[in-house]
Amino acid sequence: MYIQSGELVTILEVKEKLKSKLVTSLRLRILVLLTAVGVVPCLILKAAILNSHVDKSVAANVAEIQNQCTILSNQLKNYNYIADTKSEVINAEIVQLSNVYNGRILIINDEFRIIKDTYELDEGKTVVSEDVIRCYKGKSTTIYDEANSYIEVTTPVKEGKKVIGVILMSVSTDLYMDSQKALKHMADVLVGTMAVFIFLIAVVLSKLMVYPFARITKAIEAVNEGFESENLHEMAYTETALISDAFNKMLVRMRAVDDSRKEFVSNVSHELKTPLTSMKVLSDSLLAQDDVPVELYKEFMGDIAEEIERESKIINDLLSLVKMDKTSANLNIQQENINELVEHILKRLRPIAAQRNIELVFETFRPVTAEIDEVKMSLAFSNLVENAIKYNKENGWVHVSLNADHKYFYVKVADSGIGIPKEDAENIFERFYRVDKSHSREMGGTGLGLAIARSAIIMHRGAIKVYSDEGEGSTFTIRVPLTYVV
Ligand code: ADP
Repeated sequence: MYIQSGELVTILEVKEKLKSKLVTSLRLRILVLLTAVGVVPCLILKAAILNSHVDKSVAANVAEIQNQCTILSNQLKNYNYIADTKSEVINAEIVQLSNVYNGRILIINDEFRIIKDTYELDEGKTVVSEDVIRCYKGKSTTIYDEANSYIEVTTPVKEGKKVIGVILMSVSTDLYMDSQKALKHMADVLVGTMAVFIFLIAVVLSKLMVYPFARITKAIEAVNEGFESENLHEMAYTETALISDAFNKMLVRMRAVDDSRKEFVSNVSHELKTPLTSMKVLSDSLLAQDDVPVELYKEFMGDIAEEIERESKIINDLLSLVKMDKTSANLNIQQENINELVEHILKRLRPIAAQRNIELVFETFRPVTAEIDEVKMSLAFSNLVENAIKYNKENGWVHVSLNADHKYFYVKVADSGIGIPKEDAENIFERFYRVDKSHSREMGGTGLGLAIARSAIIMHRGAIKVYSDEGEGSTFTIRVPLTYVV
């Protein structure tokens, strides 16, 4: 056992990990495959050559023995050997034949009695074997007994058409078996050498084949140390080219995310610093003067309080945004009455609208209930209606309408306000983006309201769009599914 990054790791676990790494290794698979592809045909070839060698040797031998037996059969008939076994010529011939083939020759007469045995063991005995009987019917037979390593040939001795005797010759095949063994040994050595050679080639080839993947791994590891590293260009195979392509796309995305994170951090710092700078300037100017009149104190303290409120609003908005950025698992989805929800928000904002004599109208086409997170959806609606009031003209109007079909509910917030220039419209949902920074600041804006609204809508699998032009008022439309889709 040993400790690895604070964990107790047993040697067994390490072994297990190593084993599973080996089993799933592409290089090992290529190595095994190449070796198998090289060695298996060699083995098959070896077996085929050895078998055919045995078959051919046996066949050649059988043919030769049959031939010799046929010649002997003719001689036996000519010398009338079956009736009288005294012929010296034939006896010498039989002995010579059995010596040449290192075998045993039996001559059997028509009473199935052995009249000649070159081993001189069974003369006078009777043989009633299947082959002999078949031979008496006029058929030569050949048996190759591989297990006991011998060949047995029976040939009839005929007088006219009548079979008067049988020659039974059995020859040992041990001799071919020996040459067969020598051949097999040679083949084994050859195949073994080839297997080692093929294995070595497979080791080199498998290393070369997986090398592009090793280079990809190295490049990805380099990216871990920073996105500044080069793009991946591993074009050795179509597959590695595809991986490189996908990886480069991911790198572009990661760089974009990283840039946007940096920009966000710098924006946040800037936004948080602005109220602090104002407060510092105000308090410094108070401290720099002696006998500051109470009215000036009050005025400056009032300004400082305003800046503090602004700072806390920015922080609150940032916290809301961070909550929106988390996964949808944080949503508290419940069936809610949307009409009541919008009604409630408008009731809260009516006094603010009234300050600038802005008419706030709610038009609803049907009662709508939907599965939503009430807090987050309220935040989205409030931000839209607050903006419609903030960026409106004196005596203007804000129309909020609610409608639904079988799948979605739709909220429209239209105003008679200053509108948004076309070139800014697509950016206003970005964090801290403001068309007119000083005007937004004057209105108490943080530049986060629409980003929060968009995040809330997207979390509900909905969509938000803006239709506006400078000086023409703005219309924001929201579409949200009635049933929340996980
Ligand atoms: P802010 O806190 O500045 O209002 P938002 O994210 O809510 O930030 O809005 C971003 C910018 O979009 C605003 O600064 C404003 O310029 C513009 N905007 C948003 N709503 C409207 C609207 N109804 N009419 C005109 N301009 C709008």
